[in-house]
Amino acid sequence: MNDSLASNNRELDGALDGIEGGGVLYVVATPIGNLGDMVPRAVEILQSVNLIAAEDTRHSARLLSQFSITTPAISYHDHNDAHKTDQLIERLLGGDNIALISDAGTPLVSDPGFRLVRAARQRGVSVVPVPGACALVAALSASGLPSDRFSFEGFPPPKAQAREQWLSALAQETQTLIFYEAPHRVLACLEAMAKVFGEERSAVLARELTKTFETIRLAPLGELVEFVRQDANQQRGEIVLLVAGAPVRHERVLGVEAERVMALLLEELPIKQAATLGAKITGVKKNALYQWGLEQKSAQ
Ligand code: SAM
Repeated sequence: MNDSLASNNRELDGALDGIEGGGVLYVVATPIGNLGDMVPRAVEILQSVNLIAAEDTRHSARLLSQFSITTPAISYHDHNDAHKTDQLIERLLGGDNIALISDAGTPLVSDPGFRLVRAARQRGVSVVPVPGACALVAALSASGLPSDRFSFEGFPPPKAQAREQWLSALAQETQTLIFYEAPHRVLACLEAMAKVFGEERSAVLARELTKTFETIRLAPLGELVEFVRQDANQQRGEIVLLVAGAPVRHERVLGVEAERVMALLLEELPIKQAATLGAKITGVKKNALYQWGLEQKSAQ
């Protein structure tokens, strides 16, 4: 099945899940800077729906005009507008198709939309995602930090004491941590991270992604603090911070001698062979040695 057929079928499946005769709520991602990242399907859907619910209609006007989208738009900000959520749900139930967009990137990711999507699902309205840019995913994909497991933490608390406490609760987390941060707080935030996570912990500053002054810098937290402190330009624009997870603390399941033997073998051999040989030398089970070897490699 070609991609466009698959996507049409998906939309059809979505529609069948919903109320008969009801409209579809499309959750549409928009670029995070570079307009070239607007996906064609997003343009088609924004052109064809009855209404666009935008975080800020004035902000989105440029994007919409760039792609000749003349669909009427209203502002939607779910934090303070339960009444508007109800109005939109009524229109969806009445058969209108509505596209939800935010100022940039994927709606609901540190952006409005959650209430509307939840209400739509509760009322049986089909909700269809139209994926595209998202700053945290873009930053992670180019960061060089482990990406097999990660945790998006959103914006840290702005006040120093609350931020430090909040970061402390994350200090032992072994997944890669991802944060959004305002430019005027980035230095204070990095300083707090260096204090709580340690100056040696690897981290990435991903700034102005997809734009002219895109900067992606991987360095220990102590160095990143200096980099940002000494260059005021690094305290401008839009910023994602990523921090490597804490090293996996494995209990001494193998014993000191088995770990010593395995560490030596892993310098010369692939994990599987090291585990086989290690089992013969130490008498410890091959599987346990293999697991230990895997943990060592992923922590490097
Ligand atoms: N919904 C958006 C997304 O999908 O990424 C995020 C919206 S949130 C209100 C805005 C924050 O996202 C910014 O303060 C910054 O931390 C991050 N961000 C957005 N665009 C970015 C970019 N081009 N480069 C780096 N960070 C960006």
